[in-house]
Amino acid sequence: MTAPMMDDDLIQPFQVEPCGLRGRLVRLGPALVDLLSGQDYPPVVARLLGQAAALAAVLASSLKYDGLFTLQIKGDGPVSMLVLDVSSDGDMRGYARFERDRIDGLDGADVPHLLGAGQMAFTVDQGADTERYQGITELEGATLGECAQAYFRTSEQLETAILLACNGERAGGLMVQRLPDAAGEDPDDAEENWRRGVILASSAKAMELTDESLPAQQLLLRLFHEDGVRVYDPRPLRFNCRCSYEKVEATLKAFPVDQVADMVVDDRIEVTCEFCQTTYVMDGTPLKSLLEPE
Ligand SMILES: [Zn+2]
Repeated sequence: MTAPMMDDDLIQPFQVEPCGLRGRLVRLGPALVDLLSGQDYPPVVARLLGQAAALAAVLASSLKYDGLFTLQIKGDGPVSMLVLDVSSDGDMRGYARFERDRIDGLDGADVPHLLGAGQMAFTVDQGADTERYQGITELEGATLGECAQAYFRTSEQLETAILLACNGERAGGLMVQRLPDAAGEDPDDAEENWRRGVILASSAKAMELTDESLPAQQLLLRLFHEDGVRVYDPRPLRFNCRCSYEKVEATLKAFPVDQVADMVVDDRIEVTCEFCQTTYVMDGTPLKSLLEPE
C-alpha cells in the first residue's frame, strides 16, 4: 500500500517569519526520471537539466499564473539550450540540446563550462488575450541558481537565494525570498534576520536536497528549527508532455507549402517531439492536404 501523503515530486511552500522570508522547496524523483528517460544524455547534461527542472519549478511556484511557465536557457557552450516548462497544474517537461563531442573533453561542470555565455529567459503564457510576462538575464554565475538570483536582484529588486542540486536521478531546489519588513521593525534588525535566514537556507547540502529518505517538511525543520517554519499545502509535480498528432499537424500547416514539401522523405514526414521523443508520422491523405491546401 502506498502512503497517501505526498512526499516526492512536489513543491512545498513555506514561511519563516522570524527571518522575514518566504520560500519554496522542490523535490523531483520519478518525475525527473521520466523527464530524462529515453534521451541518452551524458551524466553531466542530465544533472544540469535536472537542476534546471528544479529551478523552473521553484520559479513557477513563486508566480501566480494560470497557464504555462517556460524557462529557456541558451549558451554558446557545449550545451546550447535547455528548455523546461511547468503548467499551473503541475505538468512539467524539458529537454537539452548539446554537442556530445564537446562534452567529452570538459574539465568542469559549472555554468561557464557547460553553457558558456548566454541568456536565461522566463516567460509566462496565460493564453490568448492576456499579457505575456517575460524576464531575461545574462548567464552571470557559476550555477543556474546564481544566474537566477542575479535576475531577481537587478530586475525585480527582490532579495533571493536559490540552491539547486541533481544527482542524475533526483533533483531538489530551495528558494528563499525576503518579505517586506514588518511594520515598525527596525531596518537593521530586519536585515540581520534576513541574513540569518539566508545562512540557514544555504546550509542545506546537495545531498539533503536530493535525499529520498528525507521528507521535504523534515528538511525544512532541520534547516529552520530555531526560528520555526510554517509550511503550507504542497503542490504536486509530474512529467507530462502535451504533444499530439493534431498539434504537429497544426504546426506544419503554419509553414509555407514549399518548406513542408522539403520535409517529405519516402512519401512521409516524421516529426519527433524533443520533449518526449514521441515520433509522429504524417503520410497519406493528411500529408496530401498539407501539400495541396484548398
Ligand atoms: Zn512530446
